[in-house]
Amino acid sequence: MSTAPVVNEKDLNRRVKKARQQVSQNEDLIFEKSSPGKAAWKLAPLDVPEVDSAALLGSIERTDLGNMPEVSEIEIIRHFTRLSTWNYAIDLGMYPLGSCTMKYNARVNEAVARLDGMANAHPYQPEAISQGALRVMKTLSDCLIEITGMDSITLQPAAGAHGEFTGLLLVRAYLEAQGNPRKRVLIPDSAHGTNPATAATIGYEVQQVASNSSGMLDPAAIAAAMNEDVAAIMVTNPNTIGVFESDIAKIAEIMHAKGGLLYMDGANMNALVGKARPGDFGVDVMHLNLHKTFSTPHGGGGPGSGPVACKKILEPFLPTPVVVEHPDGSLHLNYDRPQSIGRVRAYYGNFGMFVRALAYILANGPDGLRQTTEDAVLNANYIRKGLDGYYDLHYTGQSMHEVVFSDKKQAKRGVKTMDIAKRLIDYGFHPFTTAFPLIVPGALMIEPTESESREELDLFIDAMRAIAAEVDESPEVVTDAPHNTRVSRMDETAAARKPILRWKPGQK
Ligand SMILES: *Cc1c(COP(=O)(O)O)cnc(C)c1O
Repeated sequence: MSTAPVVNEKDLNRRVKKARQQVSQNEDLIFEKSSPGKAAWKLAPLDVPEVDSAALLGSIERTDLGNMPEVSEIEIIRHFTRLSTWNYAIDLGMYPLGSCTMKYNARVNEAVARLDGMANAHPYQPEAISQGALRVMKTLSDCLIEITGMDSITLQPAAGAHGEFTGLLLVRAYLEAQGNPRKRVLIPDSAHGTNPATAATIGYEVQQVASNSSGMLDPAAIAAAMNEDVAAIMVTNPNTIGVFESDIAKIAEIMHAKGGLLYMDGANMNALVGKARPGDFGVDVMHLNLHKTFSTPHGGGGPGSGPVACKKILEPFLPTPVVVEHPDGSLHLNYDRPQSIGRVRAYYGNFGMFVRALAYILANGPDGLRQTTEDAVLNANYIRKGLDGYYDLHYTGQSMHEVVFSDKKQAKRGVKTMDIAKRLIDYGFHPFTTAFPLIVPGALMIEPTESESREELDLFIDAMRAIAAEVDESPEVVTDAPHNTRVSRMDETAAARKPILRWKPGQK
């Protein structure tokens, strides 16, 4: 242990107490609020002749309104506002989910996306009155091409996984045009699960390549696996243990020498923007997650957006339409691309997200984006230092934007990564990513992003240190957590497979 635990008791107590208070408030309130005669609306007195609605509507008039709740305006406002607090959100506190880049969604993005011309643009509007919307797409495309060092881009895919799917379709179309689509895709054992799933969906066999003892790609292993049946390798860089693959240019050479391509999973671009460009280190095609790196909302707050950037050789195969600029400066949608893989999404992609991502890029500018990257890496290393000695670091390579610990110390006391994550909820934080990447047994994957202040990082470190102390003193406090939430440990599989998304009368 490098330093003694410096738990900021006052802050910790305040935070836990606040969380407790919130939850008990929620528990005490009865969900069902209806009582006869209440209404959340009031109309002015009628100043026109009354109409006989039965005569007007006939048999379609609904007379039985069923079990509709009758509530006042303030009751309904409080009901929904309270419900919204039963979920954790980035607007409530830190969200240290590694690999997910859960950063603050800047409000200026929302203001811009809500401008009439943006929010009310229709995808079937003629080009002549869509120049502003097309300019947003063109400028965003140009910015992302510059940031990635690639030649061309499609904004159509709606998520990272959808981008992978589109990117590999480009690879297959390119190889097919040369006469042989090939059979296999190489995937490192540290990869995100979407990578092998994508390759299999496209119809490629997946061949796993082992990482070396430092958790890094091994050029010799890749050279041994590479032959003329291999279409591509999918590489995440920095990899999923948050370490930069410094042999990436060599790996590109190995792939290119036998006619294969290098796909980069760009979900970790938050560590590279303004610092290094995948196009410069040999990447042929990659996706970006606007809902990670470029600050557009994530998950339930989405929708997502997963643009795919590529080198010139893949450009003819990009999905249609493509935005093109004529010499007079006007913008047009080009559908006349005979080698295109076709559409991967209705219309042009999630336009509202393009607006938000562009607002983020322009608000920050080149220096701001570079600063963002530096702060994200600094924050991750601050946490790494703060938890050094409290949690085991399985791989010790230089951390970029995230740090991956393991539960090795705690497992000796019967406490697993999932238990620690659940206990963290009691301290007022969203859990970190658990049990991924698979090459780290019992992984705790932590990514603070640049959004967090030093005060918030200190609070997080205190909470994690406090949990480590609890594991030593009374592990059951951790294995039984969370204690302060409305529901404790749920059947997460059933919740995903058989979700109950609608409240029914009589249900609490
Ligand atoms: C998030 C992520 C993906 C998938 O992105 P989605 O938008 O969730 O489909 C792929 N790879 C990595 C490394 C990721 O972190």
